[in-house]
Amino acid sequence: MTIVKLDTPAQYLKGVGPKVAKLLGTLAVETVEDLVYFFPREYQDRTNVKPIAQLSASNSEIVKGRIASISHQITRNRFSVLKLELSDLTGTIQAVWFNQPYLTKLFRRGMKLIIFGKVEYSSFDKILQVSVRDFEVDTGENVRIAPLYPLTEGLYPKKLKSIIKSALDNYLPVIKDALPDDLRKKYKLCGVQEAIQALHFPADLSKVEPARHRLAFEEFFFFQLNLALRQSAVKAKAGIAFNVEQKILDGFIGSLPFKLTSAQNRVMTEIVSDMRAARPMNRLLQGDVGSGKTIIAALAAFLAIRNGYQVALMAPTEILAKQHFDKVIQLSGYRDIRVKLLTGSTQKIKEVRVLDKYDLVIGTQALIQRKIEFKKLGLVIVDEQHRFGVKERAVLAEKGLTPDNLVMTATPIPRSLGLTLYGELDRSVLDELPPGRTPIKTHYVPENKRQSSYEFMRQKINEGRQVFLVCPLVEESEKIDLKAAMDEADRLQREIFPEFKVGLMHGKLKSDQKDNIMKQFRAGKIQILVSTTVIEVGIDIPNATIMVVEHAERFGLAQLHQLRGRIGRGSEQSYCFLIAETKSSPARARIKAMLESSDGFHIAEVDLRLRGPGDFFGTRQSGLPIFRVADIIKDEKILCQARVEAFELVAKDVNRARNLWHSQRQATKDAPSGASLN
Ligand code: ADP
Ligand code: MG
Repeated sequence: MTIVKLDTPAQYLKGVGPKVAKLLGTLAVETVEDLVYFFPREYQDRTNVKPIAQLSASNSEIVKGRIASISHQITRNRFSVLKLELSDLTGTIQAVWFNQPYLTKLFRRGMKLIIFGKVEYSSFDKILQVSVRDFEVDTGENVRIAPLYPLTEGLYPKKLKSIIKSALDNYLPVIKDALPDDLRKKYKLCGVQEAIQALHFPADLSKVEPARHRLAFEEFFFFQLNLALRQSAVKAKAGIAFNVEQKILDGFIGSLPFKLTSAQNRVMTEIVSDMRAARPMNRLLQGDVGSGKTIIAALAAFLAIRNGYQVALMAPTEILAKQHFDKVIQLSGYRDIRVKLLTGSTQKIKEVRVLDKYDLVIGTQALIQRKIEFKKLGLVIVDEQHRFGVKERAVLAEKGLTPDNLVMTATPIPRSLGLTLYGELDRSVLDELPPGRTPIKTHYVPENKRQSSYEFMRQKINEGRQVFLVCPLVEESEKIDLKAAMDEADRLQREIFPEFKVGLMHGKLKSDQKDNIMKQFRAGKIQILVSTTVIEVGIDIPNATIMVVEHAERFGLAQLHQLRGRIGRGSEQSYCFLIAETKSSPARARIKAMLESSDGFHIAEVDLRLRGPGDFFGTRQSGLPIFRVADIIKDEKILCQARVEAFELVAKDVNRARNLWHSQRQATKDAPSGASLN
């Protein structure tokens, strides 16, 4: 008996030679297992056949008929065109195949066919015809539901189907059910073999969803099991048990210029309890723009420093790092704390630099350079963490001995995505804005209303307010973009607002220049700050109450929301103007969402729907897993169930969980998500 292994290269299957294997490769199908899990994109109900006389131009139709005539031509540029006339009792239609001359031998007059394809008017003689995508001989016992697979040029549907069929015939019996029986019973999930078979070749359409559901559950379950195991491994590590005296905490809070919101108080309690515990903290602090995360970071840092530890706070931009620095040193609780600002990630540090003279180091990516060392790093805080990759976060944490970790984000991640991306982190949410904020008024400004928005700005500036004006990336080249922002600042200064001071901020400025401009803006010496998107995150200048976004149609929703978050930070009414000329409907949908809601969570959900999870974070390094069948958005309920079960299992019986994880990996040779245990 030969041993059948799922990781056998697909090439060794009957009917797959090197050429077909290569084509499969373009579909990311390398092994038999890939093939078994290469599911149809959709299905075609072949019981739903229209009489030929009723056909009209449409994307896809199924046609049944008898071959009335056959013709094969080679065009002048050696193109093969095979045409059949198919007729049923109601009429006749032409079916066309391009460049598949070998099919000619297959057909005889009088033969009954079922064809599937696009019904359209031929460009040549303008008569209705079917461009055939797939066909089969009508035996009277044909499958009723035909799977439609993602295709690649050169690989015909028929061929692909027969390869998959042979893979299933040979390998399906060796696939073990990785899901424990009790879970299958509890959630009424079918067996794995049955599910795979049904997804490829369902007896009828009602069989598809339960099969998909079962496989999605399995994917989510093992993904979450991995997270749960990782989390429990981290929690088993010895971390720092900070000694947090209530008196010291209260003293610090009492010295703040404002009262903490109840959400901030709750979050602090969660963080303090993590810090007190001997295991390392791994917490995600999520809060919409303006919810007051910075002070939470300052508080946590303060507590660690009082315990004699160092703290690192990393922010994605130099401007933001500087702002944090300025804010923190103003706090009276920080009077005798040594704070260092470390930016300028472009200049590489050549010699090892041990930061031993500072209690709190605030910086950009510069912090994670290899040559930077800490003496006693006890707490690592990452602000706007979605701007960093998974790796960068980890590198910073490695500069300490299992330090506590606090990561903060304003990107309101929809729940399902959060559970997937940050599933091993504990979560705290600031779901309340500090009091006294007036909701921002958002307006869409078409090009022809531009002037009146300038007049409005003039009026508000005369009342003492300030304006951000953001110019987007226009061209591929940063140089040209910069020029666009410069020209715009120039134009506004000279032609529109000669009586005010217009400033310009962009990423290419030197640190002290950036600093200088922010200082002037903060002090009210600049009334209008024209900027590239470097001010997108974090900047906090409550007197700036107008945000103008040029070419708003070019921004993503999350970005627009972040930009708008720069205003509405004081008690004055704030205004956001989205200047755009929108023809494209996704851009329109984004602007509409901005007009309708200021709730970051709602906006994130819309964004996720518009863009799909793959693009949601823009980068691959976001660590978003790729599932075979599960859909993070559509299957949120399944995800939550699977997560609860996985975490419960780890809590109840780590060994069983670990065994289950490993046997599942053995069975398929790969994690469902490509994720790995450590
Ligand atoms: P974000 O969560 O977007 O980082 P920030 O930390 O920048 O928000 O806070 C936004 C503004 O709200 C800052 O000016 C900050 O000083 C202020 N703030 C924070 N907490 C409170 C509070 N409890 N009461 C009043 N103002 C607050
Ligand atoms: Mg912030």
